[in-house]
Amino acid sequence: MAVTYELIKVCKQSGARLGRVHTPHGVIETPAFMPVGTQATVKTMSPEELKEMDAHIILSNTYHLWLRPGHDLIRNAGGLHKFMNWDRPILTDSGGFQVFSLSNMRKITEEGVEFRSHLNGDRLFLSPEKAMEIQNSLGSDIMMAFDECPPYPAEYEYIKNSLERTTRWAERCLKAHARPQDQGLFAIVQGGMHADLRKQSAADLTSMDFPGYAIGGLSVGEPKHLMYEVLEETIPLLPTGKPRYLMGVGSPDALLEGAIRGVDMFDCVLPTRIARNGTTMTSGGRVNIRNAKYAEDLGPLDPDCGCYTCRNYSRAYLRHLIKADETFGIRLTTYHNLHFLLEMMRGVRQAIMEDRLLDFRDEFFTQYGLHDNDKGF
Ligand SMILES: [Zn+2]
Repeated sequence: MAVTYELIKVCKQSGARLGRVHTPHGVIETPAFMPVGTQATVKTMSPEELKEMDAHIILSNTYHLWLRPGHDLIRNAGGLHKFMNWDRPILTDSGGFQVFSLSNMRKITEEGVEFRSHLNGDRLFLSPEKAMEIQNSLGSDIMMAFDECPPYPAEYEYIKNSLERTTRWAERCLKAHARPQDQGLFAIVQGGMHADLRKQSAADLTSMDFPGYAIGGLSVGEPKHLMYEVLEETIPLLPTGKPRYLMGVGSPDALLEGAIRGVDMFDCVLPTRIARNGTTMTSGGRVNIRNAKYAEDLGPLDPDCGCYTCRNYSRAYLRHLIKADETFGIRLTTYHNLHFLLEMMRGVRQAIMEDRLLDFRDEFFTQYGLHDNDKGF
């Protein structure tokens, strides 16, 4: 099998898992946060910088790379790793989420989804088979099954029909997957906020023996306490010997709460997206560097952070660059935010090793100034 999971230890205090995901391009220490590189680049970061902050894996988006520059070109370039000069693991999504969130005029049938490109309006068709063909061409270490992520809120009947179709699509993905020997295909458990539907989806998908399972359909606008409830109901239904990936989650509080509930992998555009407007995550909480109070602040962005940005530049300088729309300012805030989350996950893994993840969470929240888990990041 191309992708395997090794459980190292369960935290006695929290139940969180310390593990390793083995892939053809190396090992991912889990729980892990995956920076997002939508267009075959983590915006403004070079692969060398991502390695410097020790990102073990990045995520890339099938939909975007299919539309531009095209998966044939990337396959001919030697695959996505070679094309973007990244030799560590890559996870690609199925393209489904973008079809549902970016394009208008989409029509869902049993066969797949017809939609118009958000770039030029071209009529396109994405199906389980097509999603596999594209991801096989990209050559990612972990591929995702083609699914529908229903909006929140949605009618019970709609979610039930959608998840049953997603299960049939997962079966078709498994059949169409041409490179199971060097690419691991993960299935996605859906079912909205309904425990019985999550149970149905998990039972059907785990009977098909995928090398990993994702929990989809969360972090779609529901209150966080509801997301945690669904996780508590869903995670125990998944096999302990396979990795569990919570899609689209990247705020520090949700990473901690997810890990405590047994999640191994996370991804989110949050740290890179907010960095571009000057919002940073620091050990003392959220800092928007555009704020006037930092105009003459010559101290580092985060005195507790050892990253390149915090070692070399002041808040006043960062504020100046961001306000002047200088690319270097975006690079520096992006670097810090990614480093901050990756460092936090190193802390999470250490705390699991020491059986003290609940203490770690409480200490982190106190310092971060976060007392209500339904509040932002
Ligand atoms: Zn920093």
